[in-house]
Parts: sequence; structure tokens; C-alpha cells
Amino acid sequence: MGLDRFGRPLRSLRVSVTDRCNLRCQYCMPEPDYAWLPRQNILDFEEIAVLADAFALEGVDRVRITGGEPLLRRDLPRLIEMLAARPAIRDLALTTNGVLLANQAVALRAAGLHRITISLDTLRRDRFQALARFDELPAVLDGIDAAAGAGFDSIKIDTVVIRGRNDDEINELLAFARSIGAEIRFIEYMDVGGATHWSMDAVVSRREILARLTEIYGPIEPLTGRASAPAERFRLSDGTTFGIIASTTEPFCAECDRSRLTADGLWLLCLYARGGLDLRHPLREGATLDELAHLIRTVWSMRADRGAEERLGSPARDVLIPVAALRRDAHLEMHTRGG
Ligand code: SAM
Repeated sequence: MGLDRFGRPLRSLRVSVTDRCNLRCQYCMPEPDYAWLPRQNILDFEEIAVLADAFALEGVDRVRITGGEPLLRRDLPRLIEMLAARPAIRDLALTTNGVLLANQAVALRAAGLHRITISLDTLRRDRFQALARFDELPAVLDGIDAAAGAGFDSIKIDTVVIRGRNDDEINELLAFARSIGAEIRFIEYMDVGGATHWSMDAVVSRREILARLTEIYGPIEPLTGRASAPAERFRLSDGTTFGIIASTTEPFCAECDRSRLTADGLWLLCLYARGGLDLRHPLREGATLDELAHLIRTVWSMRADRGAEERLGSPARDVLIPVAALRRDAHLEMHTRGG
């Protein structure tokens, strides 16, 4: 297994299957309009499967399907089936906003999807609409319900905590996740491309989330074994477990074994990277599996990215990428990179 310049292995791949989304969350897609990836550049399922094989040859054994909103991609269970049939992929997961999940949960599970993560930032309908610009909370809750009944190995709820928007719901969301047998992970608001309204004041830090929960539940026990997963896990005195992803205030670049493939085949070595390696052209020009794997190995061996740590060290931390630059290159957007 190849290592990068900091000795980090390549283990986990996030595959974005579309840059389109059916929500407009204020922390991700707050602008009135967007430049989309050209349709002819979007990889088809066979192309994604070939790249997955090339990555697997280089050590990837965890794949997460994401987007944009992945359930907008027609026939997604077929891709899941193709990836689930590859024994090298030990862990196959999907991140969705849940809007279209009610009708797809059973088919996704039947196709072989192991785990599912649903993004949910509020349980209040008016707030959901204000935050995501569409009145879809009932659909999301139906989707979560369907997922809970579909028999996945695990269900997670991901919540981006934003001061003044939903930080008063931390405990309610925790209780909701517990009630459906899911584990919640609170995500610090990140200043990624796309988050053009970000400010440090709006970030509710890991430390503050823990302090607030300690006030309610008493001492919180840290659980060991984060391995390379981004979430640190904790247990409350009543036994409830939850996670925190502290990418903004306590980044974990040193353990990062993750990379991202955009829907048009650009391979990004860091969520904060300005550019990546185009795999679509070599793939469409007939590169063999070994040639693709070799390309991946060579580029990974040069990886020295530690984007979140560099952001932490930047003195006047402000939005990462101005709107004009985002308009010029859709690849800089969080919704293109898959989160
Ligand atoms: N549409 C799917 C969903 O909503 O889960 C998948 C794509 S979305 C980009 C993946 C994750 O990125 C979501 O959980 C979302 O909340 C998170 N995300 C987007 N912008 C973020 C930001 N500025 N800070 C932290 N997390 C963010």
C-alpha cells in the first residue's frame, strides 16, 4: 500500500455521482445560481467502477457515494450493486440529504449498500425551509424512517451546527437520533469552497458542543478507536453515543486517508485542494487498469496536503474562495467535491 509524503495510506474514497442538489443549504450552496459540470463529462457507472478498481489496487477499501445529492442520479442502486460486488470494497456507504430516500431506501439496501448517513440540521419545519430553501423536512423524516426499517448495518445523522441557526437544537437532534437507533455526528461549520457566508463567529466548536452536553448529562466519556474516521466518538452518562467532526477547530489532517472523486473524474487529495488530477481523460483515452493505478500511486506518493490545518494557521480567517472564483471553476464548490 502506497503512502503519501506524511506516511498516510490511501484507504478511503468519496465518489460524487452528481454536482446537482435538490436543496440549497445556506452553509453549502447559498448563492442564487451556480455553474454546473458539463453533462458529457459526467462519468457513467461503468467508468466509476473501473476507477474504483484502480483505487482498490492502490489500497482503497472504503467507498462513500455522495454528491451534490446522490439520489438525484438515475438508477443509483445499479452503481451500488456494481460496487458491492467488488470484494476489495469492504465498506460501502452513502451520504444523502434524505429528500428522495423514502422511495429508494429498500432498493439501496437490496443492492448491497452497507451504511447510510443522512444529513439533518433541524427538526423544525420553518427552520428547515429557511436553512435549505425547500420545505422538505417531512420528506426527509419519511426517508429516515424508511432507512431505519431497511436493515442497514448502521445509520448516522450528520448535523452541521451553526450559531444562531440550529445550535439550540443539539440536544433535541441527539434525542431524535437515539430514538431511531442512529448515531448523530455534530459537524463544525467549515470554511470550505461554497461556504461563502462562513464566519468564525458562526462556528460552534467541539469544545462548546461538549460543554453544552455536559451541562445536561454530566461528564462525557471519550471513546477510543477513531481510527481514521473523521468523527471523534463520545458516550453520555445515559449510554447514548455520538460523534463530533471538529475539522475547523481541531483538524485531523495527520490521520487523513481520504480523497475525493468528482462526478466528472477529477481526483482531489484534500477537501481544501485548489486543483486535482484529471482521471477522466486517461480513462476515456483507454488507459489500462494498471496504468490508472500507477498514476494514482504516483500522485498519492507526492501528497503533502493538510488543508484544514493550514486554514487553522491562517491569520485573518475569512471565506476561503470568493464567489467570482467559484463561478469560474465549479470544482472548487463543496457540492462538487461531495463534502
Ligand atoms: N447531498 C448530500 C447530503 O446532504 O448529505 C451529500 C453531499 S453534502 C455536500 C455532504 C455533507 O457535507 C453534508 O452532511 C453537509 O452537511 C456537509 N457540508 C456541506 N457544507 C458544509 C460546511 N460548510 N461545513 C460543514 N459541513 C458541510
